[in-house]
Amino acid sequence: MKIGVLALQGAFYEHEQALRRLGAECVEIRRPVDLRGVCGIVLPGGESTVQGKLLREEGLLAPLREAIEGGMPAFGTCAGLILLAKEIVNDPNVYLGTMSVAVRRNAYGRQLGSFKAVADMGGIKDFPMVFIRAPYIERVEGEAEIVATVDGHIVAAREKNMLVTAFHPELTEDLRVHEYFLHMAEGV
Ligand code: GLN
Repeated sequence: MKIGVLALQGAFYEHEQALRRLGAECVEIRRPVDLRGVCGIVLPGGESTVQGKLLREEGLLAPLREAIEGGMPAFGTCAGLILLAKEIVNDPNVYLGTMSVAVRRNAYGRQLGSFKAVADMGGIKDFPMVFIRAPYIERVEGEAEIVATVDGHIVAAREKNMLVTAFHPELTEDLRVHEYFLHMAEGV
C-alpha cells in the first residue's frame, strides 16, 4: 500500500519511518503530481501557517482537498489537524477545511507548550501521547467523532476517511495509531 506523506515542512520523516516499519510504501508529497497512485495521505506536525502557505504556493491545496473529499484516507497530526479543520477558533485561516471540527491552535499556552500524557484512543489502551505546542479540538460536528480526550480536551477525532490527533504518535516507538490509520486506508 502506497501512502503519501506531505513533505513540505515539519515532522514528515518520522511518519515515514513509522509507516515503513508497518510494511507500507511511502512517497513524499511536494507537488500535485506526487499524489498519483497514492491511497492515503499523512499530514505531519510542524507549523500550520507555513505548511498552508506552501500548500497554496505549490498548487497542492485544491488537489489534496478534492482527493480527501473524494474519500482518500487522511491522517493529520498536530499542524496536520489544523490544516484539515473546518474552523480554527483563534485564527481566521482555513486550509483544507474538510473535517467538521473546530480547533484551537497553541491551545495549551506557553507554560504547557510541550508535555506527555498516557490515554486511551478508541480501542487502543494507554497510548503515549507527546504534545508540542499542540492544538486541541474544541468541538466536533456532523459525523466527526471524539476518539481521545486528555484532561477534558478532545485530542483525537475521526470523521469518515479522516483521522486527526493533536499529539505526535510518530515521535514514540508505539506504532498502534499508524496501524489504525493503515487499517482505515486498507478498508477503502
Ligand atoms: N503550533 C503549531 C501550529 O499552530 C502546531 C504544532 C505542531 O504541529 N507540533 O501550527
